[in-house]
Amino acid sequence: MSFLHRRQLLRAGVVPLGAFVAGNPLPSDVVAETRRGIFDAHLHIPSDNGENFQWSLVTRNMQEFVAYLDKCQVRRGVISSSWSNKAQTPEDYRNGNREVAKYVDRYRGRFQGSCVITPFRIEEALREIERCHEDYGFVWLGEFCNYMTGYKYDTPEWCRIMELATKLNLVVQIHTNTQEMRNLADSFPDATIVFPHLGSSRDDIFARIDMIAKHKNAHIDLSGSGIERVGILERAVREIGADRVLYGSDFTINEPSAVIARVTNAFLTPEEREKILFRNVERLLARAGKSRQQKL
Ligand SMILES: [Zn+2]
Repeated sequence: MSFLHRRQLLRAGVVPLGAFVAGNPLPSDVVAETRRGIFDAHLHIPSDNGENFQWSLVTRNMQEFVAYLDKCQVRRGVISSSWSNKAQTPEDYRNGNREVAKYVDRYRGRFQGSCVITPFRIEEALREIERCHEDYGFVWLGEFCNYMTGYKYDTPEWCRIMELATKLNLVVQIHTNTQEMRNLADSFPDATIVFPHLGSSRDDIFARIDMIAKHKNAHIDLSGSGIERVGILERAVREIGADRVLYGSDFTINEPSAVIARVTNAFLTPEEREKILFRNVERLLARAGKSRQQKL
């Protein structure tokens, strides 16, 4: 696609996903325009049951959630439900996942749905993952936050979740500490894992970057603490490579534009910024779920 042609399409907001995936890196003077395509790998929607991770509410419903993302120039994202994260019963996470499917459909082309379960009633959890994949086309699981309902990632039940995710070729996004991150990346080398958050202390951040760099199945999303430390993103890209570093904000908890500002100002090439802001998550999504397609 020619420079001018692509630029005109960008201005019109009609660049198809495939053009971003297959296209050459954009010229540096139009990088700002790629904000039309910024893809957030880490979004929690306000739930229909009133559940919302925001500490003091300002975006209370889906309409306000989307309007705020517009303000931040985040055009696309992977969404999950806080109702599912805090589920006390399988019915709770099913309700959360259904609302995600509803909003993926309502804002078609804008969001990709993610399935969240808790592993307490494992057979129901596995069935729900399959259903989200087969009926709703979800190819992403998580963000899983075990501390919210008190389960662990080193159990036979969690092993079955990871095995199913690997079999179905789903991306799994897991919030945990650095040691558990390492255990999961070691134990499930064929799973595609996204770990959110760079970490808090200097030592922890450096250890996480080193761990992700050594595990080719692991990716980091930039949400949460760590990204505000100038130089850390550059270090992550230098050690891990730009292909496994993803833009994620953790909105509605955190400010989407704070992470974008750091990526935009970082000492990176335009190509590296593009990978972080949208190409990498596009690639993960495009490659996920292939086992199902092969079966069809
Ligand atoms: Zn989160």
